[in-house]
Amino acid sequence: MAKRDYYEVLGIGKGASEEEIKKAYRKIAIKYHPDRNPGNKQAEEKFKEAAEAYEVLHDPQKRQQYDQFGFDAPGGFGSSGFGGQGFDMDDIFSMFGDIFGGHSGFGGFGGFSGSGRGQHAQYRGADLRLKVRLSLQEIATGVTKKFKVRKDITCSHCHGSGAEAGSGSETCPTCGGRGVVVKTVRTMLGMMQTQTECPTCHGEGTVIKNKCHACNGTGVVKGEEVVEIQIPAGVADGMVVNVPGKGNTGPHNGINGNIQVYIEEEENDTFVRDGQDVIYNLLLDFPTAALGGEVEIPTIEGTKVKIKIEPGTQPGKTLRLRGKGLPAVQGYGSGKGDLVVNISVYIPKTLIREEREAIEKFRESENFKGDLSTKKSIFDKFKNYFS
Ligand SMILES: [Zn+2]
Ligand SMILES: [Zn+2]
Repeated sequence: MAKRDYYEVLGIGKGASEEEIKKAYRKIAIKYHPDRNPGNKQAEEKFKEAAEAYEVLHDPQKRQQYDQFGFDAPGGFGSSGFGGQGFDMDDIFSMFGDIFGGHSGFGGFGGFSGSGRGQHAQYRGADLRLKVRLSLQEIATGVTKKFKVRKDITCSHCHGSGAEAGSGSETCPTCGGRGVVVKTVRTMLGMMQTQTECPTCHGEGTVIKNKCHACNGTGVVKGEEVVEIQIPAGVADGMVVNVPGKGNTGPHNGINGNIQVYIEEEENDTFVRDGQDVIYNLLLDFPTAALGGEVEIPTIEGTKVKIKIEPGTQPGKTLRLRGKGLPAVQGYGSGKGDLVVNISVYIPKTLIREEREAIEKFRESENFKGDLSTKKSIFDKFKNYFS
């Protein structure tokens, strides 16, 4: 099934405010909630579809990427992203619990908890953002970059547990070891009993007796780490590469955050990028254009290739070297772009006497005046510029 536009999914306009996005999502999520539509596959699909749309549109960065690239934005949306694996229900609740005003998400609906698969949102390390400037050559081949990043790393004193050596843990006094507390709350659907994660032990059921003095019980400390990040070939300015698990270490031996790498592209003096194609402007000398020959041109990989120039090559002619352009980013199309060579012909600005005399001889030659078909093709070219 073709993916529907995210704005269409939420039934909002492209210019919708954050508040409108939130409202629209809330409405759909409540209508199609699985507990209100038991066994209804279609409702479940709608519910997931809305969650995915909301995930992208409520984040200004992702929304901008989506507006610019649509579903093809690298960094990825929904199930098609870098390392993305689609949504499951647990993800939806762990991601959007906050919109429904409580960490446990829908709480009263039961069956789902805000912390999917026994993972605690609090125990996930925060994501990090990095910026990287790449040359066209690095983009052509892909590149591995090393970054020294300041981030939360595992506390070496307690090995991430947060407990002072030998102290261990005891039953949580707030929840008596259950990990959850029950609250009665007013919701849009009336009064409900809702189970929320215990605020003292964050669902663990136990608390540390003596907190580690080095990390104050969190299990993480500030530190520095050199991370190696592989940037795939074919990326472009403005894209975001998500590197799972390399961000801040999760507290209490939790889940690590990600690193989001923002791509910037250096200007290139030799080539102009046009999507996957690269354009090279070749200035040909007049004798080679007239007589034909061979010229060497640079490639984006930093090598050189020889190209054949036909006798009588006209300025404005374009040659296309198939497959000598940029590769597609993994998973976003296939094959490589072309190296497009735009030819212009150099006419000397000044001439020495011998040159002048030689060229004077051609002035009266009919052959040098250009035949009707050449004139017509130049005329057509200009016409096309203005139409
Ligand atoms: Zn510690
Ligand atoms: Zn507790």
